[in-house]
Amino acid sequence: MKNWKRLASLLMAGVMCLALAACGGDGGTGNSGAPETSPAGEGSSAPETGDLPADVQAIVDRGVLRVGVKTDVPGFGYQDVLTETYSGLEIDLAYQIAESLGLSDVEFTAVTAATRGQLLDSGDIDMVIATFTINDERKESWNFTTPYYTDAVSLLVKTDSGIADYADLDGKMIGVSTGSTSMEALIAAAAENGVTLTKEANFSEYATYPEIKTALDAGRVDAFCVDGSILSGYLDDTVEILDSIRFSPQEYGIATKLDNTGLAEYLDDLVTTWLEDGTIDQLIADNGVAASFEG
Ligand code: GLU
Repeated sequence: MKNWKRLASLLMAGVMCLALAACGGDGGTGNSGAPETSPAGEGSSAPETGDLPADVQAIVDRGVLRVGVKTDVPGFGYQDVLTETYSGLEIDLAYQIAESLGLSDVEFTAVTAATRGQLLDSGDIDMVIATFTINDERKESWNFTTPYYTDAVSLLVKTDSGIADYADLDGKMIGVSTGSTSMEALIAAAAENGVTLTKEANFSEYATYPEIKTALDAGRVDAFCVDGSILSGYLDDTVEILDSIRFSPQEYGIATKLDNTGLAEYLDDLVTTWLEDGTIDQLIADNGVAASFEG
């Protein structure tokens, strides 16, 4: 038990398990792969898993849930470098999913915008919970649950940059992450505001977010563009997030490999239940995350 949030997650998930069982959510007869001990404490038992889809049962039988998460997005997926402890909304969601499966063990793998899809495809991880925006193109490659959070794209600039609106981006260089939705979103938003930005003239792509912040500090880019939640991890005295430029709603979903349809459905049931019963709102509040972007 790493901290109180984890405890709260486990307790809440324990309640979920009971609720699901009461609603006939499993109704199985066996309990083949469930662990011998449950983190919910003595007297509680792992859910019966006889009726689980094969891909979900395989995870239960393995005894550990493998989840790809961000490690540098405070409030969402963050790993403390000293204690190595994980925290954030997406970490709590992973613990709750594990708990609903009767698993006490979650193995986190650090992912980036560029690596998360490959890690799913290779089977290294069961799911990605990592500020992963749902869009039509991605839905052709992976399953996504109903969104658990909506963010918006914004810009991080130096406080003395003079950039305050789309017009100020004309002729500027903007740092974005490879494999992210950011560049396309900013090109579209700027166009709607009468400013033409092109991939060739206005964007530099980087593999990781720390590299973009370094480029901003060094003056190699004039702005760092990505979801506000991610930018908040890079705030310091020299930079600011532009409240005046906030666009392109980014709906985050839990992603699974395309052929894991049983797992996808299982996760979607959990997310929709947790949206309805207030669990996700509570986790958003517990993690100090702003309410979902309304557009
Ligand atoms: N959420 C955006 C995306 O999925 C930004 C990139 C990221 O999540 O790292 O493309």
